Amino acid sequence: MIIAIDFDGTITDHRYPDLGRPVPGAFEWMKRFQAAGATLILWTMRSDGPDGPLLTEADDFCRENGVIFKHVNENPQAWTTSPKVLAHAYIDDSAIGCPLKENPRMCGRPIVDWDIVGPLVMAMIENDGDHRLRTPKANTPAWDPYGPEAQRLARNYRLMSAAVGGYQPLASDVEMDMPTSNDTIDGT
Ligand SMILES: [Mg+2]
Repeated sequence: MIIAIDFDGTITDHRYPDLGRPVPGAFEWMKRFQAAGATLILWTMRSDGPDGPLLTEADDFCRENGVIFKHVNENPQAWTTSPKVLAHAYIDDSAIGCPLKENPRMCGRPIVDWDIVGPLVMAMIENDGDHRLRTPKANTPAWDPYGPEAQRLARNYRLMSAAVGGYQPLASDVEMDMPTSNDTIDGT
């Protein structure tokens, strides 16, 4: 199984062009993915250029922390001319649907919640012995689109949107007594 993983806000917190500090759980889970046989691709907007070797620094930082990417911003199976890398899963703090949490070290943009992402992706790897994407099996955590976890994610989306200045309360939020963008994530 191939997993493409973003850097800023996903592996480290948002301090571009600095490297930032590791997002809690990121390296632990990526090392588990590696040990389970997954191919990891670093998939980031960072590049080596006039501002310095920002991409190489990020790759080196991950290697020093025990994660070796087989490819860096490169498609391992380029059977089209698309620059998008082929992966079975993409982990990115900017992706809609990616579980996020508030950064405990600094205010601002939230970071990937690896407590949720890690087990989900691990279940995908364990269900994918022949490297084909399959329908999740019994040991994949159950997903209730109307359950408390879905509500928690919806709340995270609002925090994420507020962080980039795009969130406007909806009438339905008031009617449903949804948390506001000023709320903090309580982890429930
Ligand atoms: Mg990012």
